Amino acid sequence: KLYLNGCKAMAQARKQGKNCVRMWGSPANENTVAPISDLNNGNLLEENQLLISCMASLLSIQSFETAMEIVLGHIGRYYGAQHVAVVKCDTEKQTNKVVYAWTQTGEHLKKQTKEIIPFAQMPHWIDAFNQNRELVIHDITEWIHTYPEEYEFLRDSGVFSVCAIPFEVSSKLYGFLEVDNATLHSEDIILLKTLSYFITSEMTKQKLQQKQEYLIYHDTLTGLCNRNSYLNYLAGLNEDALSSMGVVRLDINGLKEYNTKFGFDYGDSLLCHMAQILKSVFAHHCVYRFTGDEFLVLCKGVTNEHFTSLVNLVRSEMRAEYLDCVAFGYTWSGVDIHMEDLIRHAEELLSVEKLMNKERQAYRSQAPQAVMLQNLVRALENDEFTLYLQPKRDIATGEIVGAEALVRYIHPKYGVIGPAKFVPQLEENGLIYYIDFFIFEQVCKMLLKWQQEGKPLRCISLNLSRKTMLREDLPKQMQAIYNRYKVPKKYIEIEITESFGDMERETFSRISGDIVAQGFRLSLDDFGSKYSNLSILSAVDLNVLKLDKSLVNDIVANPKTLTIVSNFLVLCRNLGIESVAEGVETEEQMSLLKQLGCNVVQGYLVNKPMPMTDFEEKYCACT
Ligand code: C2E
Ligand code: CA
Ligand code: CA
Repeated sequence: KLYLNGCKAMAQARKQGKNCVRMWGSPANENTVAPISDLNNGNLLEENQLLISCMASLLSIQSFETAMEIVLGHIGRYYGAQHVAVVKCDTEKQTNKVVYAWTQTGEHLKKQTKEIIPFAQMPHWIDAFNQNRELVIHDITEWIHTYPEEYEFLRDSGVFSVCAIPFEVSSKLYGFLEVDNATLHSEDIILLKTLSYFITSEMTKQKLQQKQEYLIYHDTLTGLCNRNSYLNYLAGLNEDALSSMGVVRLDINGLKEYNTKFGFDYGDSLLCHMAQILKSVFAHHCVYRFTGDEFLVLCKGVTNEHFTSLVNLVRSEMRAEYLDCVAFGYTWSGVDIHMEDLIRHAEELLSVEKLMNKERQAYRSQAPQAVMLQNLVRALENDEFTLYLQPKRDIATGEIVGAEALVRYIHPKYGVIGPAKFVPQLEENGLIYYIDFFIFEQVCKMLLKWQQEGKPLRCISLNLSRKTMLREDLPKQMQAIYNRYKVPKKYIEIEITESFGDMERETFSRISGDIVAQGFRLSLDDFGSKYSNLSILSAVDLNVLKLDKSLVNDIVANPKTLTIVSNFLVLCRNLGIESVAEGVETEEQMSLLKQLGCNVVQGYLVNKPMPMTDFEEKYCACT
């Protein structure tokens, strides 16, 4: 009774425009309501009822939104408040947003739901909440001086008393429960706290549930809908009611290879980026990712033109970055729509495109070689490759009896570049034969020139790469080049290296035999280096054996090497093979070699490799 009277008194006073607020938790003012002590017992029942009905709503009502509306209504009525709200704090954006609300007048707070209040407008509140303190202000005029801005804001919103209880979800400030302009039980903050606790725990549960639901229907990596969601969609789809449907299937070519080559993180980022492009272009449609790299897009009710333009947009965005990484299959229908058929058709088109991509890729992987070949041919045509000659001297007579042709690349900017810089690469990509044949031709041409100029002809040796030797058309090509010059074959010596495994001994013998059969001289290069094997001497008809530089280096200091070289030279003499020592740099080496019976020396001691004109000048005085 007392309580009701008090309430009525307050309501009456309000009607008269008096500012008579029932203060939260403060001693009751006799003019308005009864003292707390008189109210406590009577409240208990109501309190329990409120708690029970709120919990019942939260637990039994399916829709959380509806439950919250009812709960807030219970609270509002219990406190005789004008407005009750759950406000969410976005600490990142520094804003507050009303998420659930109830008003005394019953008018729905759709407008207020959208209301966003910046933290800056209520700093004092946020401070309190961050310290997990509730905010209770019985009369906002108390704030006129201390927090003038907050006071004005509340006053303008029609609020004259506030109780706000902060709550945390997952131990982060989530928001607060706000009761404005309470006229009843306003001393009862504990109850409000209890309620806010229940609301919070329900909201946490709700969030968890939403998350679980999300996981059932979404792909965790890309955030796109998953197969469950797709099946759900199909189950709810009425094909007869469809006006049109566009289907896109896309796929990443060789995702597996990307994963093994660049790691799973790369593969994942690729998938996420593709998902992002799909999401942004097909923002209003259903985009799914199934297992791995399988994407599907369903566009309901779009015109064919619009659908095609969306597909083209995605295609160009993806192509710009990933080239043939992505394959598409898409189809659209405006009549007799059967989802299964449409998807199967898109699937078919996808597999066709994948095949074409593969062919394109295969073509492209050969392209670098084509470019390199073009560059090589251009360099050959521009005379960027040239022939250097390193003289060979007969030890006994001291005469220059021949020379080795060695290739050089004359770089337009960097000048003379030795073969070590480019021969290994050309051997690897199989283009070395262009160089070998070029040098072969240069040697023939030079010999012909010398012949025509009446210069003494000397035997010129040239190097054939193992790769060149293995070419089926080697004898034919050599013959074709030779036929253009037709100089005596005895002046052309082919240096080959026995860098073949034992397995290939047969092949080696056959090819060497071909060279000898063609009438050219044959020389075995780098003998005594790692590949050497004495048995080769009996397997091949050699004219010359070149002792490797490593042996020559060693003969002065190492008696064992001296013995080995001595024996090689005996072997050569007995087999009728001419011996050439390579890389001779000192007189000492030369005199030792002479004693051992070596025929010819080649090395810096005689001369470094030099341009043809220099060689001519120095060694080809006309006879
Ligand atoms: P190689 O056939 O063993 O040629 C001998 C190399 O030893 C040449 O190096 C020559 O300049 C170097 N040399 C000669 N005398 C001395 C010396 O007294 N001391 C030192 N330290 N070095 C000496 P280059 O011209 O740099 O050629 C290196 C290799 O490149 C050659 O080794 C050969 O395997 C290859 N090469 C050169 N021209 C051709 C070619 O036309 N075709 C092919 N396939 N390979 C070639
Ligand atoms: Ca050589
Ligand atoms: Ca050599």
